[in-house]
Amino acid sequence: MGWWFARSLAALGLVLAGGLCGALLGAPLHAPLPGTIAGGLLAMLLLVLRDSLRGQSLMHWLRGPLTAAAPRDAGFWGELAYRIERALRQREQRTHQEQERLAQFLSAMEASPNGVMLLDDAGQIEWCNSVAAQHFGLDPERDLRQRVTNLVRMPAFVAHLQGGRLDEPVVFPGPLGRCTLSVLVRPYGGGAKLVLSQDITERERTEAMRRDFVANVSHEIRTPLTVLAGFVETLAGLPLSEAERQRVLVLMAQQTDRVQALVGDLLTLARLEGSPPPVVDRWTSAATLMHKALEDARALSAGRHVIEGSGGDEAELAVSETELYSAVGNLLHNAVRYTPDGGRIALRWVWRSDGGAQIEVTDTGIGIAREHLGRLTERFYRVDGSRSRDTGGTGLGLSIVKHVAQRHGGEIDVHSEPGKGSTFRLVLPAMRVRRRREQASVTPAPLLER
Ligand code: ADP
Repeated sequence: MGWWFARSLAALGLVLAGGLCGALLGAPLHAPLPGTIAGGLLAMLLLVLRDSLRGQSLMHWLRGPLTAAAPRDAGFWGELAYRIERALRQREQRTHQEQERLAQFLSAMEASPNGVMLLDDAGQIEWCNSVAAQHFGLDPERDLRQRVTNLVRMPAFVAHLQGGRLDEPVVFPGPLGRCTLSVLVRPYGGGAKLVLSQDITERERTEAMRRDFVANVSHEIRTPLTVLAGFVETLAGLPLSEAERQRVLVLMAQQTDRVQALVGDLLTLARLEGSPPPVVDRWTSAATLMHKALEDARALSAGRHVIEGSGGDEAELAVSETELYSAVGNLLHNAVRYTPDGGRIALRWVWRSDGGAQIEVTDTGIGIAREHLGRLTERFYRVDGSRSRDTGGTGLGLSIVKHVAQRHGGEIDVHSEPGKGSTFRLVLPAMRVRRRREQASVTPAPLLER
């Protein structure tokens, strides 16, 4: 028995009651039948009026913003209002949940390190994240609903979008020419497109550097090998005197040394690049390290220069000794090689106001013109190629020094004036250096001067 039965029963009862009242009122006037009909009609009219009022109140609520509660009523109208309101609230809740999910999804795409852009089937921008906006020079708010090819006019991009092979990424320079973009377009959902962009400037640069590096290494190795091959031919094919043979062997040994030095430096660089930074767990004497490096430099100079050292007696280092030794050694060897005979070379330890320290190598050598200073630490960069090679240089020394400095959290800087000399500073941060404590067990060797 549903609400309609109760409602029909009540309406019938009311009409009957109206008719009965009409009959009672009509009897004294000798008109019981018209009284009954009039009473019944009046009751029906009242019922219709009451329904209209309740329906009107529900319609009023439905036409409004639906923020207030539905009109509370008993019976049919009450249940109708309640059910409409419940269906509406459920739909609102679902829409709200979907909106939240969409917002979450968009913020995930916003967090993507790559550019993401959604195009509709007419090629208009539906949405793009800030990375895509930056890649394509767009405004993520203002440019919505604009045709993308009206805003991004790079020919490679337009051609790709309009008929390129969409399964392959297209590479082209970014709109401001400052970067290289790799863009992949994926169609979805009936003509819409997902455009994924990636800034590959750094990758391209690394790739170019790798190509240059391989070309340089090949060239550096091929030259001495060609010379060696020539000497081998000479030895095999020509009847040489003992003196000539000895001379050729000396020249061959020089070329072998050159290849050996190059391979050694390449291995050092590979080790530096492929291993984690040295840990700060053991303190060693700075003076001992400087002393050893000075001895080596004096041996290389063989008395042709005045080489002196100063400072660092009380200093301790938390570094990779082999790495730092090789860095300081490289700086001193360069000073010897690029300073004419009779020049002065100094190795100094200087404390810095920030708690760190710097190891300085100063010479009175040929110096370096300003335009070369920024590129000195590039691999195989030489100011004067033949001087470098003649003195046994590989073009990798300062690259090694820079790597060692950076691995210890430091840096290298250069001051130089052509014809006057140069100063190379290897700066170490405070965490890598300290003043020796009284109880420390290390006893550094004093720095010798000559
Ligand atoms: P190289 O093996 O050629 O010396 P480096 O990387 O050690 O390679 O140095 C790069 C270039 O920097 C050298 O070729 C040289 O031109 C210049 N250079 C380095 N040290 C000095 C110095 N003390 N005085 C003048 N020029 C220097």
